[in-house]
Amino acid sequence: MKITFLGTSHGVPSPTRYCSATLLEVEDRAYLIDAGAPVADLLIRRGVPFEKLRAVFTTHIHSDHTVGLSALCSLANWYYRESDFDIYMTEERGIQIFRQMVRVTDGSLDEQRLRFHLTSPGVFYDDGTLRVTAISTRHMEQVNGTSYAYLIEAGGRRMLFTGDLHGEDAADFPAAAQEPTDLIVCEMAHFGPDAIFPRLAACPVRQVLFNHVYHDYEASMAAIRAAAGQYPFEVRAVEDGDVVEL
Ligand SMILES: [Zn+2]
Ligand SMILES: [Zn+2]
Repeated sequence: MKITFLGTSHGVPSPTRYCSATLLEVEDRAYLIDAGAPVADLLIRRGVPFEKLRAVFTTHIHSDHTVGLSALCSLANWYYRESDFDIYMTEERGIQIFRQMVRVTDGSLDEQRLRFHLTSPGVFYDDGTLRVTAISTRHMEQVNGTSYAYLIEAGGRRMLFTGDLHGEDAADFPAAAQEPTDLIVCEMAHFGPDAIFPRLAACPVRQVLFNHVYHDYEASMAAIRAAAGQYPFEVRAVEDGDVVEL
């Protein structure tokens, strides 16, 4: 599994970081976790054909994780007509908005090729190459919304992707992290290092990568750098364009 961090910023892009989008490539297939802008442009720049894309898994409907879907679905709809993929969203209202966006801007939506689905907890995707389990988190609970962390399995490797969590104590950090994983990709926008490192310390994991860092940015990045070598796992923050092979 090849993981390319297309966008690693929190809710606001910076001069060097786009919002959330992560590309997974397994054999000849590509998948996205989250689709912050400008995910379509980033795929094109990297030479990833839209035809290779099998599915998009959004973690929740906040715009920094979803607005890139507009351009992605629109281009796939009217231009890259060989593309054929599934789009998983966490709430029906998100599905309605993005469907409507393409219908209005393009005049129609080819739902045979671009299939929107509602994500459900548990194993919700398995194409024989990639298996994805949705784990409920509390990030959207104050607006009665839904959010998920994802456990991604492919080729005997396991990756836990936290998505956005809830609260300064990271209390909804997924219990699935207690099972052996090769990689945990963890956000750090809603809590600081003091909340998450004690939780990570107990996890049987080989590598921890932080993205979505916002909480007291400079201090958090310094704490992540200082943590290197202090734990049994490799730990660092990722930048846009970083590639990791699992
Ligand atoms: Zn976010
Ligand atoms: Zn969010």
